[in-house]
Amino acid sequence: MNQYRIAVIPGDGIGPEVMTENVRILQTVAAIDRSFSFEFQTFSWGCQYYLQTGKMMPEDGMEQLRSFDAILLGAVGYPGVPDHISLRELLLKIRHDFDEYINLRPVRLLKGAPCPLKAENTQNIDMIFVRENSEGEYSGQGAWLYKNSPQEVVIQHGVFSRKGTERVIRYAYELARKERKTLTSISKANALNYSMVFWDQIFEELGKEYPDVKTSKLLVDAAAMFMVKDPKRFQIVVTSNLFGDILTDLGAAIAGGMGLAAGANINPEHKYPSMFEPIHGSAPDIAGRGIANPLAAIWSASQLLDFLGYEEWGARIVDAIEKMLAEKHALTPDLGGSASTSECGKALAGILKQLS
Ligand code: ATP
Ligand code: MG
Repeated sequence: MNQYRIAVIPGDGIGPEVMTENVRILQTVAAIDRSFSFEFQTFSWGCQYYLQTGKMMPEDGMEQLRSFDAILLGAVGYPGVPDHISLRELLLKIRHDFDEYINLRPVRLLKGAPCPLKAENTQNIDMIFVRENSEGEYSGQGAWLYKNSPQEVVIQHGVFSRKGTERVIRYAYELARKERKTLTSISKANALNYSMVFWDQIFEELGKEYPDVKTSKLLVDAAAMFMVKDPKRFQIVVTSNLFGDILTDLGAAIAGGMGLAAGANINPEHKYPSMFEPIHGSAPDIAGRGIANPLAAIWSASQLLDFLGYEEWGARIVDAIEKMLAEKHALTPDLGGSASTSECGKALAGILKQLS
């Protein structure tokens, strides 16, 4: 039997509430399929910890996480702790130090999920974003010159290394090949005359190794328009850190909203643990009321199962979510229901047992 050690960081706000259900689902799956099991260890790091200690995680926090097979994260951030501390010292630190250079975000509109698009544009919304997660526009490099003078200038560099660009584009080609899907690269070479020209060049270079993969290239402005007007044209999408950040929020909006949007931060080499999280924040406005939607977090658990090689289970969890949506069964208020977070999680666990 395969045993996996999972580090659980519930975090802040609704993080702990949705995490309880996330863990429930993974335990349910392991109880049905006896070929693997999970051992969870919880780390109470985040903004409460910060308010007590002045740090988001202990000094040796990264070493403590290092030996785990994966990390589940709830949500990070709370009023009173600036985002640049809470995000930078926990979420971004883990992404960076564990070289989780792939951000994998499914954008799939399940039957019964709310969608603001015209009905005729809601068919076959089923794409996977491969977002560069380690450099690019978010490299943090730049300068602030002549502060507070009339000559004041700020410079924000985008850093695109050959290694960093090749590895994310290669990952996307491999995924497109494995899934037999088309690959779209989104860039902006007409305006960003160094970084995006380089990106496009590498996309074409690597394409020669993948003659079986059908590709297309789009400018990011056109891509935003097509995601609204003709989203079915996208299958596997690869793009830079900034563009991926923006387009995946648009993706969340067309595929059911924040309560259903999940993301995985992957170190494909398994050299370090990968991290799975809902993409929503700590939502202080609804925290503590037991009404947060756990389905985004649970979808990220399905990504964890995919990552560990249990793709049938990953798919089964998404099927179970779809069944709940289609039947309007045990949904939380954000999806028009009246169920609590735990009622929603328990109902999903029940469906998984039935399906098996
Ligand atoms: P961040 O600053 O990290 O973006 P946030 O607290 O602003 O965090 P968002 O993820 O941006 O949270 O979510 C915006 C709003 O959407 C929340 O304030 C909440 O009302 C709603 N929301 C987000 N996630 C959920 C969820 N899982 N269930 C129900 N409502 C949610
Ligand atoms: Mg927000």
